[in-house]
Amino acid sequence: MTKNDHDVIVIGGGPAGATFARLAAQGGMDVLVIDKRKEIGVPVRCGEGLGVGELVKQGLDIPKRCYSTQVEGSKVVGPNGREIIWKTDDTKGWILERKIFDKWLCELAVEKGAKVKTYTRAVEVLKDGKGKPTGVKISHGGRESYDVHAPLIVSAEGMESMMARQMGFKTVHSLYDVDTCYEYEMKPYDHENLIELYFGNKIAPRGYVWIFPKADKKANVGIGIGGNVVNGKKLGGVDGAAPKVLLDEFIKNNDQLKDASTLLDFGGVISVGAPINEFVQDNCMVIGTAAKQVDPIHGGGIGLAMECGVMAAAVAIKAHEKKDYSKKMLMEYDKVWRAEPGKVVAERLLLRKVIEKVSDDDFNHIFNTLTDHDLKAIMDGKFAGPVTKVLAGRPQLIGILSALIPGKK
Ligand SMILES: Cc1cc2nc3c(=O)[nH]c(=O)nc-3n(C[C@H](O)[C@H](O)[C@H](O)COP(=O)(O)OP(=O)(O)OC[C@H]3O[C@@H](n4cnc5c(N)ncnc54)[C@H](O)[C@@H]3O)c2cc1C
Repeated sequence: MTKNDHDVIVIGGGPAGATFARLAAQGGMDVLVIDKRKEIGVPVRCGEGLGVGELVKQGLDIPKRCYSTQVEGSKVVGPNGREIIWKTDDTKGWILERKIFDKWLCELAVEKGAKVKTYTRAVEVLKDGKGKPTGVKISHGGRESYDVHAPLIVSAEGMESMMARQMGFKTVHSLYDVDTCYEYEMKPYDHENLIELYFGNKIAPRGYVWIFPKADKKANVGIGIGGNVVNGKKLGGVDGAAPKVLLDEFIKNNDQLKDASTLLDFGGVISVGAPINEFVQDNCMVIGTAAKQVDPIHGGGIGLAMECGVMAAAVAIKAHEKKDYSKKMLMEYDKVWRAEPGKVVAERLLLRKVIEKVSDDDFNHIFNTLTDHDLKAIMDGKFAGPVTKVLAGRPQLIGILSALIPGKK
């Protein structure tokens, strides 16, 4: 029998892995977190927007150094320029400094007793004769490589999810179920402490442009569009444009941004499809974006990653106490997730699939009809009221919108 070095090895020190590690260590587990990056949180590939909800729920008091600005709500803009301002207690949030925020989450895990090792990549999942994971082969800085063993392996690897794949999880993405993104950090930009979201098939086919305000007149200005659009499929009149081309076009037409400087450039891909079919197998779990636990409407995954870290850690602690890391034992995490955040993600996926069929002209009608209250109802999964309002002025949309009405297809 293999001698275990730790109770659990967590692959990835992002928000999912760090949250899991903090709570598992607090619950008495010997936790090792490994991350291939030289520095936790660096480089940043994120718009850095986070609603207050998850941190409040977890009782975490975010230090000032972890965020750049506090935002009050959103300005949602339709293809014709019509703006809906949505500002309530629910819409408050932060534009983070993720390179500091992610490190802070790891520091909290260390304070509870977890061990974090950077520049340490999992390169292979070690398995017993029955194919159950027993540990990982890790490579430190691409030089030394050695084996580490634990009865539980947690993949919190984000989009890459190579080790999860080796554990038998179906983490491959189709182009249809990802958004390809491009983002600049820009300066100067004067803002109103609102995140700005711009919709329209010509602006961002099957996605949106975001302007997230940062301190010192800076802003994260980015775009996410359907992965299938980039690869040449015609959608909303735009044929195969790359996200950077569309973002540059948006910036050229924006009075404030057209003369602004860029301080950072990066591209990325985010999952906007359904979560993977199963989050657990014998001796292993997948959490966060590695499990495709991302909001299909806006591609936000930080809050969901932290939330599933809590759920998975609670189940891991029970498994540790019973010395039972079987799939049956770990399955409770899968069930709890699908019963709560999973329901919201499923509603948002349905909404995404409806929105992607709407033309810019119909979008304009929708923006002219809806209010901030309607937006809140939609994001809460209460589609009936807003859909009825939209259909009153444009009944021909019934074919597309009926998917949002319970009992109708
Ligand atoms: C352009 C863009 C903009 C975004 N904007 C937002 C936003 O504004 N708000 C929001 O909520 N979400 C946003 N997201 C999504 C968000 O970044 C992710 O959902 C979130 O980071 C998920 O957290 P995680 O812990 O699951 O994974 P990650 O944060 O991706 O962390 C995974 C970690 O695993 C490590 N790792 C991977 N493989 C290995 C390995 N083999 N060995 C060791 N370590 C490994 C990586 O180095 C990484 O540190 C955006 C995504 C993109 C691409």
